[in-house]
Amino acid sequence: MRDPRYDVLFEPVPIGPVTARNRFYQVPHCAGMGYRFPSSNAAMRGIKAEGGWAVVCTEEAEIHPSAEISPYVENRIWDAQDLPHLRAFTEAVHAQGGLAGIELVHNGHHSPNHYSREVPMGPSHRPVDSGDPVQARAMDKTDIAAFRRWHRNAALRAKEAGFDIVYVYAGHDMALLQHFLSRRHNDRADEYGGSLENRVRLIREVLTDTKEAVGDRCAVAFRFAVDELLGDDGITAQGEGHDTVAMLAELPDLWDVNVSDWSNDSQTARFAEEGYQEPYTRFVKALTTKPVVGVGRYTSPDAMVRAVKQGVMDLIGAARPSIADPFLPKKIEEGRIDDIRECIGCNICVTGDNFSAPIRCTQNPTMGEEWRRGWHPEAIPAVTAREKVLIVGGGPAGLEAARACGQRGLEVVLAEAGEHWGGRVARESRLPGLASWGRVRDWRLGQLHKLANVEMYLASALTADDILSYGIAHVVLATGSVWRRDGIGRSRHAALPGLDAGPLLTPDDVMAETLDAAALPAGPIVVYDDDGYVMGGLMAELLARAGCAVTLVTPAPLVSAWTQHALDQPRIHRRLVECGVTIRLNTVLTARNADRLELACSYTEAPEALDCAALVLVTARLPNETLTLDLKAREADWADAGLLGVQTIGDARAPGTIAAAVFAGHRYAREFGEDIDPDVAPFRREAIAVD
Ligand code: ADP
Ligand code: SF4
Repeated sequence: MRDPRYDVLFEPVPIGPVTARNRFYQVPHCAGMGYRFPSSNAAMRGIKAEGGWAVVCTEEAEIHPSAEISPYVENRIWDAQDLPHLRAFTEAVHAQGGLAGIELVHNGHHSPNHYSREVPMGPSHRPVDSGDPVQARAMDKTDIAAFRRWHRNAALRAKEAGFDIVYVYAGHDMALLQHFLSRRHNDRADEYGGSLENRVRLIREVLTDTKEAVGDRCAVAFRFAVDELLGDDGITAQGEGHDTVAMLAELPDLWDVNVSDWSNDSQTARFAEEGYQEPYTRFVKALTTKPVVGVGRYTSPDAMVRAVKQGVMDLIGAARPSIADPFLPKKIEEGRIDDIRECIGCNICVTGDNFSAPIRCTQNPTMGEEWRRGWHPEAIPAVTAREKVLIVGGGPAGLEAARACGQRGLEVVLAEAGEHWGGRVARESRLPGLASWGRVRDWRLGQLHKLANVEMYLASALTADDILSYGIAHVVLATGSVWRRDGIGRSRHAALPGLDAGPLLTPDDVMAETLDAAALPAGPIVVYDDDGYVMGGLMAELLARAGCAVTLVTPAPLVSAWTQHALDQPRIHRRLVECGVTIRLNTVLTARNADRLELACSYTEAPEALDCAALVLVTARLPNETLTLDLKAREADWADAGLLGVQTIGDARAPGTIAAAVFAGHRYAREFGEDIDPDVAPFRREAIAVD
């Protein structure tokens, strides 16, 4: 039963000629699927509508070959060839009672046009912002007329494909219309440049064109970045963002407002709390009678109700919360708040798009697998026979394997060596800014405690003898990994002798509850990061906050380089500088003496030395495979012990992301009892037509 406090979230909201059945709105978000994996995209979006989202939108849909951003896989609506897959999208959403929205986009000088080889264009002569050695040319009046025609025709095609909401887009610093609005990008001397009225002109024209073209049946939404977080160099919520909303207030049927660019809009939990966009977007509702949708990683129904009741927004926009839990609205509606699988704000979903690969999610292992593997986020086929599974290790992989096997109806025994559940997630969620990562453990524990067919044991370090003595037929080893102490990492392929010439710590030591921070040398501590994801930066931040003098040394050209793909690399660098961490890039560790490190430039090998009272080595991890190897060595005893199969999953198989470990646990449960042929692809693939 729904808690009446949440009733307001289930009120219908008229949007122009259509009505959203409730206030849950999946704003446009990319998924690495788009035109290349349209069946996958349609199935994934349809499931969100099934989960109760009133509106489900596409990723950006490029309106013309001069506006494409390959290799990124977005959507396309260039001509009739795109209509069948777009229709599949609208049909999947409509079949579940949702409204389908499409974000029409011309990317302006954000389009390098690698695929189409069209000349990029924008309001003024500017380099394309992809870094390619290519410039966009300033559009003349013929170009502007053509752009308006392309947009209008795309809107008509969107209507034909069955969309209910058609977007005009000026966000993320990726859209031609935002480029026209921006003083930074627009130095035109004609009626489209200069005053704000002039820079807004093209937006007004395109909104008007779109309403005239499709407004009889489709709502016209305007997605607008009210603040670019650039101060006077950009649009601000106090300045031109505010004035633009005032000028166009009643023109669109819906205001979809956020902050720009994408790294500001999709901030990780390390840098932003739920509702972080409210200070920027809350002014909008006072200037328009049209409904307003905003985002801010809302996963709490209380926060959603507050945002609506305080008049911040009418519709709760979500990308990531709808990815982590496509059934979030349904769970609130059914009074199942504890079942909500909350987004942890890690942006692994974003990395999928940045690699032009289908989306994945740390919390939701079924994300992206709806069509190709037939996985539903809520349903999993029950097993026909109640067989027994022993799962060793209570980290993300073991917890998810136990939860999903339990959901299938298997008899599950879960054993964890430590005193706490969660494995690496328990440790990492104590690091600065990562508290929400603990949700990976907490959601699974909450679900496991509801399953009568799962037994759970802490403080149970199992040996091969133990396992063979139980007589359980199926064994899953999810024993995790440890950080290496030998120096082998990305840039070094052989052990580095002498690393223990002075105090040597790995992230496991620093994260151990037994670590006495006060006993650490005041300095200088060197964090050597040859891993490149979050851990090196986190170690440096943690130790600097504890009062140590810290230098971060890395062979990479950037701090925490891989986090570029998750959008927060610049913030990490800035935070380390603010914490007083000294940063040395492009530098490898070559030797260690008692109180000094020998370093070398990655490019020239020029040597240098650095004082070091303690070394924190963040290089690579080793799987905890003792149990795997011990059981393998006893394979001759399995039959007598009633053991049919052993599988090693997660970090114990090969250390990776938390998302990969959760996925491995889920996959074990899904494939339990299946006859898997290792020689064929484990999922179906999208057809590629040949003319
Ligand atoms: P993953 O990310 O693959 O889930 P983690 O390192 O997070 O890996 O979790 C592995 C868990 O397995 C840890 O909590 C660890 O204490 C536990 N573990 C390791 N070896 C054993 C063992 N022999 N018996 C029981 N639990 C174990
Ligand atoms: Fe949230 Fe991380 Fe999932 Fe993205 S990958 S939706 S940020 S939990």
